Amino acid sequence: MMRRRVKIAGVVQGVGFRPYLYCLATELRLNGEVANGTGGVVLEIEGERQRVEEFLRRLPLEIPPLAQIESVDVESMETSGVAGFRITASDASGHVSTQIPADAATCGECLREMLDPGNRRYRYPFINCTHCGPRFTITRSIPYDRPQTSMARFKMCAACQTEYDDPHDRRFHAQPNACWECGPRLTLLDAEGAASDVKEPVVATLELLAEGKIVAVKGIGGFHLVVDATNSEAVARLRGRKHRFGKPLAVMVRDLDAVRQMCAVSAAEAALLTSTERPIVLLRALGSHGLAAEIAPGVPWLGVFLPYAPVHYLLLGNAELSALVMTSANLSEEPIAIANDEAVERLHGIADAFLMHDREILQRADDSVMCVMEGAPQFLRRSRGHVPLPVRLPMEAPPLLAVGGHLKSVFTLARGHHAYQSQHLGDLESVSSLDFFAEALEHFERIFQVVPECVVHDLHLGYASTVWAMQQPQVKIAVQHHHAHIAGCMAEYALSGPVIGLALDGTGYGADGCVWGGEVLIATLSGYERYAQLKYAAMPGSEAAVRQPWRMAFGHLLAALGEGVFDAEILARLKVSEQDARLLARMIDRGMNSPLTSSCGRMFDAAAALILGRDRVDYEAQAAIELEGVAEMGEAADGAGYGLRLERNEGGVLILNPAPMWEALIEDLRLGVARGVMSTRFHVGVADAYAQAAIAAREQTGIEDVCLGGGVFHNRLLTGLLCRRLREAGMVVHLPVRVSPGDGGLSYGQAAVAAALLAERF
Ligand code: ZN
Ligand code: ZN
Ligand code: FE
Repeated sequence: MMRRRVKIAGVVQGVGFRPYLYCLATELRLNGEVANGTGGVVLEIEGERQRVEEFLRRLPLEIPPLAQIESVDVESMETSGVAGFRITASDASGHVSTQIPADAATCGECLREMLDPGNRRYRYPFINCTHCGPRFTITRSIPYDRPQTSMARFKMCAACQTEYDDPHDRRFHAQPNACWECGPRLTLLDAEGAASDVKEPVVATLELLAEGKIVAVKGIGGFHLVVDATNSEAVARLRGRKHRFGKPLAVMVRDLDAVRQMCAVSAAEAALLTSTERPIVLLRALGSHGLAAEIAPGVPWLGVFLPYAPVHYLLLGNAELSALVMTSANLSEEPIAIANDEAVERLHGIADAFLMHDREILQRADDSVMCVMEGAPQFLRRSRGHVPLPVRLPMEAPPLLAVGGHLKSVFTLARGHHAYQSQHLGDLESVSSLDFFAEALEHFERIFQVVPECVVHDLHLGYASTVWAMQQPQVKIAVQHHHAHIAGCMAEYALSGPVIGLALDGTGYGADGCVWGGEVLIATLSGYERYAQLKYAAMPGSEAAVRQPWRMAFGHLLAALGEGVFDAEILARLKVSEQDARLLARMIDRGMNSPLTSSCGRMFDAAAALILGRDRVDYEAQAAIELEGVAEMGEAADGAGYGLRLERNEGGVLILNPAPMWEALIEDLRLGVARGVMSTRFHVGVADAYAQAAIAAREQTGIEDVCLGGGVFHNRLLTGLLCRRLREAGMVVHLPVRVSPGDGGLSYGQAAVAAALLAERF
């Protein structure tokens, strides 16, 4: 006989872990007990040696679907001789290292029950079990137990309580367990927020959608604005009311078969679509997708996701509607609405009706957005379904907070090997986003009980996140933007460096005060050297040049062609008069409001202005996205790219000079070459130039590892070309998978740099 105490850490609470251990123990006729503790799950197991060993062998292999084990510690104990196996009460004392699960899509078994007229939860919009349902978004505190969630106010009926108490039931300790009898309910409100007395809110909602109405639907992480995705007029009305003009809208589609009618879906993409995290997945649209053209104007992709809450299945369960536009209920880049009265107030004049419920959302979480990049998943936005699960840091970090960047804000709270990234917080331009930042931070500090000793921020003093960081009493560490991008990739792959870092990005504040974003760094986690850069060009008008790509084109062409930029054809292409162009040139000459930039993203803007005539943008990276789109859609090019010239400056830094590229591109414009071909040549030229720079860096340093970081790596065409060339040259390419390569992943990289610096210093 033997007795063992087993401590299991990881995602082991609220995922059916104790009943799992109970069933395994009883199957093997072992005695003991299990409890949730603040350190994870604590188990004591006693019986014949052989059976205990069998138990410990099987334990990690057969865990429930949502569980993730991080560590299992086993120690010997005296046998007690007590018979039976018990699940004992949670222990809320001690140091917290356990985790709250992320929200998970309705599981297959719950779905079957919901569609079964004989089941007591037939068509119940809040059905869930231990393997599915809301978690993070309904939790106020730890340990994850019903009184700490927004289900606390619903008292379970006898039938639900019986399930909840039965270790053999799929709903044993399923904290959001509920039914028609005892749980939350849907209600339909009119545009003014007045309750209607409709018997079947879902049926009434479907009628409204069929009429082309806009309905705000309360989901898991917030409200969505919903319209019929085949109704052009309705989609256009939604865009008009939401003041969102160009940016593609996400579409929820009934099932995978229906997705295949609209888009090309690879096996990797299908796996992402059907994962319990249910992200929006960017897919290549088929020509005949049958949806309103207004959903994704100007691009060949659709952002598609499958239902993940029971109410979504109910809305998409009828024959007429197979696809719904479902977009976060907010004004662009402000936080998503979650409270009922907040939604009515903020969506007044936008929504024609509200499909609400009385289960409070305690944490906002927008939908995650992903794509398949080079065969692996990539985050465009890491949020619902993934928060608050940690990403590993390769070194032990003291408690610290990294505040990230300015746009697509996400903070990271780190301790030990855990980096907890917040949900997507939006752009920190508005007071409401800053409030959301503070609210989310308070929640994270509470649930993980991390009191940061150090605050890490960007070098840019104008970022709202930096301004916030400066006001904090703790020790501060500033990290250069692109170093953070590269360090994030290194940390994900546990590389200590040095590596060759290709930071191709929009904009980030450089160590020399210029705007960086097209750099080759030789980086370790704690430092970097700038090996190569795109040649500086002016950004006339500074921020205005981001919104108006024609300004970037002018800045680049002035640097490349000098007087040649005043060519009538070029100016016509940029839609600028000679007089204005002269004025702009003088402004640049005097350095007035015209910072210098080496940004690759801004060079994409410049190319899009020339190739597409895209003179202004409605959303971030629009010009670059459309430029990639025309290459995807256009005629095949011959494989040759516009060449950049590599030269060295006095400081020994390798300069990628795009002047020959601009000359060749303008020649193609004159010849009337198809825009798809020009776009492909541009992509090929940029990929070739950075591959050459990386190869030159290897020759000089012997480093084989290449880490990629920055928002430009959301571009699949460029990333694919660049990765291929680097691999052909025998280099080892690392692309972020668990963290976004864009600014959404910035705070993770900042945390990695700070942890490395602190480890070196102390
Ligand atoms: Zn379920
Ligand atoms: Zn019930
Ligand atoms: Fe960036």
